[in-house]
Amino acid sequence: MNTSTHDAPPAFSATPLKGQKALVTGGNSGIGKATALALGRAGADVVVNYVSDQPAAENLVKEIEGFGVRAYAHEADVSREDQVVDMVARMVRELGTIDILIANAGLQRDAPLTEMSLDAWNKVLGVNLTGQFLCAREAVKEFRRRGVVPEVSRSAGKIVCMSSVHQLIPWAGHVNYAASKGGVEMMMTTLAQELAPQRIRVNAVAPGAIRTPINRSAWETKQAEAELLRLIPYGRVGDPEDIGTAVVALCSDQFDYVVGTTLYVDGGMTLFPGFATGG
Ligand code: NAD
Repeated sequence: MNTSTHDAPPAFSATPLKGQKALVTGGNSGIGKATALALGRAGADVVVNYVSDQPAAENLVKEIEGFGVRAYAHEADVSREDQVVDMVARMVRELGTIDILIANAGLQRDAPLTEMSLDAWNKVLGVNLTGQFLCAREAVKEFRRRGVVPEVSRSAGKIVCMSSVHQLIPWAGHVNYAASKGGVEMMMTTLAQELAPQRIRVNAVAPGAIRTPINRSAWETKQAEAELLRLIPYGRVGDPEDIGTAVVALCSDQFDYVVGTTLYVDGGMTLFPGFATGG
């Protein structure tokens, strides 16, 4: 392992992830889809995990293959231990290893506290938090087995946890979701601390409001979009591609010294815009 502090980061390239193998959970929709495409465009082979809508996953695989990389779709529920174990084992069998995990799968089951069922609480925690834990655990076993391959990457593996601005901003009526993302932040930093000595980089991306199916009601009508824009200093709702680009950057060797950080990609939503004129 080369631990020299004098290594210059490699020059920027159009395919910074060439030869790496990436898994994107919840990869057939919204942010996951844009991220899977961005990883493929950056030269990585990509496994598109999905839990529903196989045709969307298969179409995406064809699109990714258009970049001249390998790809396949894999059905698995990330909250199920046996299915996550099988998913990573198949990836190692078919692609040889895993270099990058994008723990992206997530959902919302919103309700005011007294109307929130235990099922809705458990479901959101199970997918958004436990799902990331299970995927990280299985990926790290392979990162450690393989170690650093300098021709491929300066690190032994990269994990990007898809968090949310709601790891920071409380969100009334969404206590299960906000708690899951708060948990993701502490899980991410703890894993980053635990795994950095093994040259494994764990970071998070925290999107603000991105135009995807998960939050359709927040941007679908002109009135809803106007309300939403009041929360976004930069004056536009985000696109899934904004997140895909950030993920590729975090996974590249140019970002090799970025460890245990949350990159907010939110048009300034976490700048407390209400205080621009008040307070
Ligand atoms: P989306 O609904 O388009 O995508 C979510 C994906 O997760 C879908 O493919 C869905 O099938 C998958 N999924 C759900 N349960 C799963 C399970 N048990 N196993 C495997 N996959 C499962 O929504 P999105 O906006 O693209 O969300 C992606 C991630 O980004 C989520 O973690 C979400 O919390 C986060 N996020 C989104 C926004 C936003 O504004 N869209 C903001 C902050 C964070």
